[in-house]
Amino acid sequence: MSHVNIPFFLPHMGCKHQCVYCDQRIIASEQLPTEEEFHEKMQHYLQPPQKAESIEIAFFGGSFTALPLDIQEKYLTLAAGYVGTGPICGIRFSTRPDAIDHDVMDFLEDYPVTTVEIGVQSADEQVLVASQRGHDLVDILMSASIVKRRGYQLGIQMMTGLPGDDYERSVYTAEKIVAMKPHFVRIYPTLVLKGTPLEKMMEQGEYIPWEIEETLELTDTIMSIFLREGIQVVRLGLYSENPNFSENVVAGPYHPALKSLVLSRMYRNRLEDRLVGKGDIRLKVSPRDISSVYGHGGQNRQYFLDKYQRRLCVEAEEQLPRYCFEYDGHRLPLYKEK
Ligand code: SF4
Repeated sequence: MSHVNIPFFLPHMGCKHQCVYCDQRIIASEQLPTEEEFHEKMQHYLQPPQKAESIEIAFFGGSFTALPLDIQEKYLTLAAGYVGTGPICGIRFSTRPDAIDHDVMDFLEDYPVTTVEIGVQSADEQVLVASQRGHDLVDILMSASIVKRRGYQLGIQMMTGLPGDDYERSVYTAEKIVAMKPHFVRIYPTLVLKGTPLEKMMEQGEYIPWEIEETLELTDTIMSIFLREGIQVVRLGLYSENPNFSENVVAGPYHPALKSLVLSRMYRNRLEDRLVGKGDIRLKVSPRDISSVYGHGGQNRQYFLDKYQRRLCVEAEEQLPRYCFEYDGHRLPLYKEK
């Protein structure tokens, strides 16, 4: 089912801490909307042809439930006025783990909130401290459990490559997230943004940004963990509508199509794990995955030619679901098997 979010950004609103890597003003380049701007944006999004089967009004870029109650009330009331109009089915927002408790949930019950996204970022206590998140793992586990028990859709945001993070700690975070049984996750490899405390840490040699190559290998493992458990990864890599965003990325594994790079790497790795015989490498995938198999700019095709002197020949097979492939008489998943 096609789903769309109508996004409203509340940059840093409600944030109790300055996390070392964050600058929502660079990411969103948007300010808190006035009532008039809110309605204008809604009208803009609702103009026909509207093809989405379900729409949520989304408040991102801050810690929604940490905002003063009158501001929460204002935006929830504005949004609630549209819920039930056409395919608009509810409200979603992102927030911090330490801004969710039973009182907060009691307050939300008066509004048609459907989804709560929690910025977990890491399950490792040292990484949380080094990133100045200002909450701990207990906050994360409590908030996820409350959201689930109250019957909301739970989304989790995690980051890789934070200060103090490494391959094992990121994998541990992904496994902890699986145990929270979220409906979906977003994965954000850490970028060093201009003017953030993380930039200073990097300049002082206290933080080494991750390279794209190690990020691809790590996210192969992390995506595998989520896909194996049937948890949807709805985003991989920071997306910004700010046209000047890339100029503000000082270092880190930035690529505007990171998810497609990761999927290509996953197809390459799984195929290489299973490579048999000689001559052309023939496989079948869903038509939607053909470009991922060949890789960005044909990178995978070139890789198998250079390394094995074998041509990659991919056939579209309508019957195949995404994220799997047929090779050597077997249907194989895109994720790493245990
Ligand atoms: S990561 Fe979230 S909580 Fe931290 S500063 Fe950014 S918006 Fe605020």
